[in-house]
Amino acid sequence: MSLLEDVRSSLQEKHNGKNPALAGFLHGRLILMLIVVGIFGLIIGSFLNVLILRRGTGQGVGGRSACMSCGYQLRWYDLIPVASWLMLRGRCRSCGSRISIQYPLVEMATALLFATIAASPIPTDIAHAAVSYGIGSLLIAITVYDLKHTIIPDVWVYAFILLAFLSAPVFSPPILYSFFHLLLSGPIAASPLFLLWLVSRGRWMGFGDVKLAIGIGFLLGPLAGLVAVMLAFMIGGVVSAPLLFLSSAIGRRVVHYVSSHRARFAYTMKSEVPFGPFLVISTFIVWFSLLYGIDIAAFVGW
Ligand SMILES: [Zn+2]
Repeated sequence: MSLLEDVRSSLQEKHNGKNPALAGFLHGRLILMLIVVGIFGLIIGSFLNVLILRRGTGQGVGGRSACMSCGYQLRWYDLIPVASWLMLRGRCRSCGSRISIQYPLVEMATALLFATIAASPIPTDIAHAAVSYGIGSLLIAITVYDLKHTIIPDVWVYAFILLAFLSAPVFSPPILYSFFHLLLSGPIAASPLFLLWLVSRGRWMGFGDVKLAIGIGFLLGPLAGLVAVMLAFMIGGVVSAPLLFLSSAIGRRVVHYVSSHRARFAYTMKSEVPFGPFLVISTFIVWFSLLYGIDIAAFVGW
């Protein structure tokens, strides 16, 4: 039985006036666990920022971080996740140049993700939890990198596929589950994207997205994997439509009239919208629906 189930049943008992002390103790334990996992997530998020920043620069992940404008070497008190960025109001302590909001956002997202995994009612051992944290971390790194460079690093997506494959049996009912079933779930979920990639010769869809979808299939199973891919198209459509309008000639003129600040945003925006972030968002939605026992198909009306 997981800690969360313990808390639920003992809260029920507390409600019935049976065992208030135990319920309080377990509830306290759950909150403490979430705080510890959240802090762990902040630290891993901080590490992910370094990984994203230094990828492809030839720098290792070791060595001290420095300001990109003035070279000021960051001290330990400049490296406290979220807090340092807030205290410095997003500027370098030495030269005052802007520090991207990406840093605190990635740290907070990782902490939130880890806490959501930890609080899920599906009982997991430490190994499965570690695999889930690894998967979440890789998906965050892939999203941010794809947003910045519209490319998905091979090493990260292969690591994701491997971890997703290892985690797969958790979600499959023991009777339906077979190795063959697991082996096919990746390619099945990726098949729509693979067809788009094939037909367009890579113009509509990058092969990185196809690889990402293979991992999604292993993680979620063939059916939920396909649901995630379809959901990504829906979210992508909703988000891309205004972005495409803003980057069009008429859109730019409209934005220019509205505000000069927004116009700069529209002019510098890339015309290519990466698909990876939509895949990751929809994967998180379907993944957590499975972890928390929410019937996503019924919710969408399928
Ligand atoms: Zn500086």
